[in-house]
Amino acid sequence: MLSIQSKLPKVGSSIFSVMSKLANEAGAINLSQGFPDYDCPPELIDLVTDAMKRGHNQYAPMQGLMLLRERIAEKVNEIHGSEYHPETEVTVTAGGTQAIFTALTAIIQPSDEVIIFEPAYDCYSPTIKLLGGLVKPFVLSPPDYKIDWAMVKKLVTARTKMIIINSPQNPSATVLGEEDMKQLISITAGTDILILSDEVYEHLIYDGKKHLGVAAVPELRERSFIVASFGKLFHTTGWKLGYCLAPAKLMAEFQKVHQFLVFSVNTPMQYAAAEYLADKSTYESLPAFFQQKRDFFAGLMKETRFGLLPCHGSYFQLVSYNRISDEKDEDFARRLITEFGVAAIPTSAFYTRGNDFGILRLCFAKKQETLERAAEKLMKV
Ligand code: PMP
Ligand code: GLN
Repeated sequence: MLSIQSKLPKVGSSIFSVMSKLANEAGAINLSQGFPDYDCPPELIDLVTDAMKRGHNQYAPMQGLMLLRERIAEKVNEIHGSEYHPETEVTVTAGGTQAIFTALTAIIQPSDEVIIFEPAYDCYSPTIKLLGGLVKPFVLSPPDYKIDWAMVKKLVTARTKMIIINSPQNPSATVLGEEDMKQLISITAGTDILILSDEVYEHLIYDGKKHLGVAAVPELRERSFIVASFGKLFHTTGWKLGYCLAPAKLMAEFQKVHQFLVFSVNTPMQYAAAEYLADKSTYESLPAFFQQKRDFFAGLMKETRFGLLPCHGSYFQLVSYNRISDEKDEDFARRLITEFGVAAIPTSAFYTRGNDFGILRLCFAKKQETLERAAEKLMKV
């Protein structure tokens, strides 16, 4: 019998795969995994098809198509007042996940400590562990999931190599502000601590709030990898296209790994993304587009017994079910699928120690009719 030693013995299928599978099997409305159930703009599909027909079907340069890197740098520099250079400081990746994996792999050595804020996106912790790093989770609690920076400071040791931030945050739907940035500057000043800033929801931010990316903060920019995803920008999560930004010295290390992980990312979609990005309205219209969905869904959910938590960004609405049941969140989420026909993500899945606050995550990046049908079912709970 072949004996293998798992590098991730405690890891099973991701909660997103588990819940989506259960939803499909039960024919439930799937508000669990975060993806739109409407199609992307048809112009985008035409742009990819055109690129393919024009013969752009071979390897792109390792760092990404130059035209796309230029458009990314132009966009980011204009919004944040930064000076990222497309030659040396931008890499196109196979989605945000690959950018996160690559940045961590380029930096984390065995026994390095990485501070993450939980509830945290699912890929951070297993990736750190694969590299022999030590995850230092900082637990945030509902309803506001506010970061107590004085306490974070106590987690910092001589072995802290990186801090991962995520704003707008998945799943808490919170956003970091000026004060958070000041605190992060103060914690990292004079140290070699790097920052991985997951900003895949940068344009999904509501109520007139402005996304405060680390690109806009010189003291943080110099020590940061910034991760972005075109999946959220173009409503194309299945394209797995994203990018990473970092100062040249960090980006050189990133690219050493990137070249052996994927070498380069699919070419026709890079042409399409470069063309599409030229029109600013593609991303400037996103806050209003998603805010309308958030408000529409919240309006419907107010008719249910679920309690709504604040949502400042991302495409997730958190709801508390403490007026309905005291079951564990995963049990309740499973029953919601089988008995009521709606799939959600139990937020305990985003905590190392499974902290259960009785809160579910619902994705509102859905057609109006899907949200209506889901709410109708949730009203019966
Ligand atoms: N970070 C966060 C916070 C996410 O929610 C996601 C996916 N939605 C990613 C990274 C990964 O992005 P991608 O799908 O482009 O790999
Ligand atoms: N980011 C998506 C979410 O949070 C899921 C992506 C995935 O399934 N890996 O739901």
